Amino acid sequence: MTARIIALANQKGGVGKTTSAINLAASLAMMEKLVLLVDFDPQGHSTTGLGFPKPDNRAGSYALMKGAPVEALILTTEVPMLQVVPAGKDLAQLEFELFELPELQVLRRALQPVLDKFDYILIDPPPSLGMITLNALTAADEVIIPMPCEFLAMDGLAELVETIRRIQAGPNAALKLGGILLTMAEERTNLGSAVASEVRAAFPGKVFQTQIPRNIRLAEAPSHGKPVAFYDLRSKGAQAYLNLAKEWLGIEEPLIPRGPA
Ligand code: ADP
Ligand code: MG
Repeated sequence: MTARIIALANQKGGVGKTTSAINLAASLAMMEKLVLLVDFDPQGHSTTGLGFPKPDNRAGSYALMKGAPVEALILTTEVPMLQVVPAGKDLAQLEFELFELPELQVLRRALQPVLDKFDYILIDPPPSLGMITLNALTAADEVIIPMPCEFLAMDGLAELVETIRRIQAGPNAALKLGGILLTMAEERTNLGSAVASEVRAAFPGKVFQTQIPRNIRLAEAPSHGKPVAFYDLRSKGAQAYLNLAKEWLGIEEPLIPRGPA
């Protein structure tokens, strides 16, 4: 087994990166894949969203980037088969440290020792195109771009695509666009559907069929420290991320996911 590394990237905040990282990771784990989620954002929302306190600089992805062995930093979540490397605000200083070097391969090297222990490694980077995100894109096999179905959704996308091209032309020629994920979709509004159609027309074949609806359960679940499927399995949000995992895995048949224990 060699883990496929997936970075969720968008330099805008509030687009659903962390929500998608937590819930796609949990959904893949519920489909019996071994998954490691690397919280790579100083805000630590993937960490708190899975019920862990933000670590200090000896215990999370900051330590990982400073040479601590990844195995020592992994936490076990309540979702069987899902583990996490947490992050806290100390990671912010890494932005400057990497900028001074500058060094893009640190994360890729740091994850090498566990590539044979997971099916998927998901990375949740911060809302910027700084050195932390560039390290995530350099480590990744694929990038998923979450994009809300909102006015100006595609604003800034050209910059992100250009950044991906530069990573492909430089440190990571193998990087692929795994797909664009439409988030916070409101089927019943004209604007929401117009944005969705616009994005699909601009990126034919690159947008996931599965759209993530705006769903209050997705916003509530993090305060309970759970992925949405462990908070409300029947919610539209939980079902959407399970469908996304199925689409990702190429599973056509409906299957009954393993629910909360
Ligand atoms: P990012 O990581 O890109 O900054 P988040 O995933 O943290 O974005 O989402 C921003 C906010 O929107 C969070 O409060 C989150 O709970 C909420 N949110 C994200 N996706 C949805 C959704 N599909 N429906 C409702 N709320 C959502
Ligand atoms: Mg986030």
